[in-house]
Amino acid sequence: MKSAAERRELLKAVYQEARGCVACQLHETRTNVVFGSGNADADLMFVGEAPGANEDQQGLPFVGHAGKLLEKLLGEIGMERGDVFIANTLLCRPPGNRDPYPHELDTCQHFLFAKLELIQPTMICTLGNFATKLLRGEPTGISKIHGQPEVRTIGPRTVRLYPLYHPAAALYTPSTLEMLRADFLRIPELLALGPPSQPEPPAAQPEPAAPEPVLESAPAASEPPGDEQLGLF
Ligand code: URA
Repeated sequence: MKSAAERRELLKAVYQEARGCVACQLHETRTNVVFGSGNADADLMFVGEAPGANEDQQGLPFVGHAGKLLEKLLGEIGMERGDVFIANTLLCRPPGNRDPYPHELDTCQHFLFAKLELIQPTMICTLGNFATKLLRGEPTGISKIHGQPEVRTIGPRTVRLYPLYHPAAALYTPSTLEMLRADFLRIPELLALGPPSQPEPPAAQPEPAAPEPVLESAPAASEPPGDEQLGLF
């Protein structure tokens, strides 16, 4: 079992890896990688779709109008951004805010799963269709399942998954906002249920004797990038 401090250090290492990611063409048009921000040991994690223009400029998730609404709804349940971790299915902005392509979701998902594994939230709120379909691994749309919590095993973690409408969808549609608000109001009671029981870890296998590694010294990085995007941790 890793301590919160150890998990946070590992998360920083994943962040450093993500900052240099060129695995899909979105790296060509991004200003910043938007890794996610908040409490690296949060019980509650939000997963949105992809960075927009403001997020791309600032390197932080949900800092535009949808983000303001998310903060307002969090405030209504007595929480703030620093209590939760906020991430997206994609780290980089799709040009013109187009929908993520399936191959981009495939290529980027290991970063999201690494965050889940290291932050260890007990509950994940997916915001909108893309995050909901990705984390449930099923095509059911958000209008059918919003507000219906379920216990799901995602990678090595079992969590309460709680699909919600995307705040951007609620910005200009009052009826969607009312549904999002009503679903949000149930978050405290769901969090109070505590973590769902976790799957048994695989039995430890005896380690085969490893040959002595040949260590080569790594070239010194000229300018180690900072962790400023993780400033909220
Ligand atoms: N919409 C998202 O899905 N994510 C953001 O970070 C901002 C807007």
